[in-house]
Amino acid sequence: MERIVEPERQIVFRVPWVDDKGEIHVNRGFRIEFNSALGPYKGGLRFHPSVNFGVIKFLGFEQIFKNSLTDLPIGGAKGGADFDPKGKSDKEIMLFCQSFMTELYRHLGENTDVPAGDIGVGSREIGYLFGQYKRITNKFEAGVITGKGLRYGGSSVRTEATGYGLVFFVDEMLKTINETFEGKTCVVSGSGNVAIYTVEKIHQLGGKVIAVSDSDGYIYDKEGIDLDLLKQLKEVERRRIKDYIPYHKQAIYKPNGNIWEIPCDIALPCATQNELDENDAESLVKNGVIAIAEGANMPCTPAAIRVFEKAKVLFGPGKAANGGGVATSALEMEQNAGKTRWDFEYTENKLKKIMQGIFRRCSQAAIEYGFPNNYIVGAN
Ligand code: NDP
Repeated sequence: MERIVEPERQIVFRVPWVDDKGEIHVNRGFRIEFNSALGPYKGGLRFHPSVNFGVIKFLGFEQIFKNSLTDLPIGGAKGGADFDPKGKSDKEIMLFCQSFMTELYRHLGENTDVPAGDIGVGSREIGYLFGQYKRITNKFEAGVITGKGLRYGGSSVRTEATGYGLVFFVDEMLKTINETFEGKTCVVSGSGNVAIYTVEKIHQLGGKVIAVSDSDGYIYDKEGIDLDLLKQLKEVERRRIKDYIPYHKQAIYKPNGNIWEIPCDIALPCATQNELDENDAESLVKNGVIAIAEGANMPCTPAAIRVFEKAKVLFGPGKAANGGGVATSALEMEQNAGKTRWDFEYTENKLKKIMQGIFRRCSQAAIEYGFPNNYIVGAN
């Protein structure tokens, strides 16, 4: 216990950068290399104004156990900066990423520490970070960062992995009560990487997602979220979720609305930590929810989790349910090491097997320790 709660290394550094008006800004960068018992440090980078040591530390701690649950050879880490990417130009993002990597690169390596994306860090940012690493070290060391573009060492299915993996995990939970996604109504919070691909896989499996959100509010579309439009707005144009409304007259936008008030069969929090509290849990249970799983890291408060446990609804904890992202990152490292590339179908199949394995380990451990169907105990 004493050894596992103490990070092996904690790094904090200055990130100076210049905006489009020529003004200088200074942000703070972090990397916590928490545990390397099982392999090189592995975990994402988060760019969000709320980032501080506490946030990176809890995420890094969770990451150790999540990575271990995948059964792949990866240690646990997390990093990021208190930088707000919202409203920044491409050039500003590039300059920030280059400055960030100018400090961080000395701590990284394909056998040392391998970051990836998280909130505010997608394939654009990974591209800028990798480019700067390559420039400084004069090495095309693809395995040093994951979530890369497909043309320069990225893995197919990495973009989709966390969302798809979450849905595969929930599908396994549903099987235990002889249910499937077919015909189920789902609510997914957030509208970033995890949320979008959660929606995509649910729709492929015959479920219907009726609401998604961002930090300004949520949209409710009783006909089911239009996924192509969602991708266009969020991934291509980087707009707000309210911009969905002009395209679909039947949809409703609720600024600052609480998405968990919407009745649904399956609720999947995919935005951020502590986004679903005790009251939200009670209203979900009252409205007949049958399953909840955490796409985000620790989105449900401990009090909310107690409500779900008491109501005996299925609950998938993040460290198990959202492990598909990091697992596919490990598959990306494996492809980079072998200088090879797998196709979409093969990689998705691997991801599915990994998620089934995570579920099986949680389920069996829960039984072994006398808490059948308690996937939190099982995962821990
Ligand atoms: P993105 O940046 O792509 O999307 C985050 C989404 O959550 C956005 O819609 C954002 O809205 C919303 N959001 C962020 N912060 C807040 C907040 N404080 N309040 C309300 N909404 C908020 O990030 P990801 O989709 O990659 O990550 C989402 C969650 O999933 C995080 O908890 C992350 O740690 C976890 N995760 C991600 C993995 C991955 O592979 N990407 C892997 C495993 C877990 P807005 O644009 O308004 O900020």
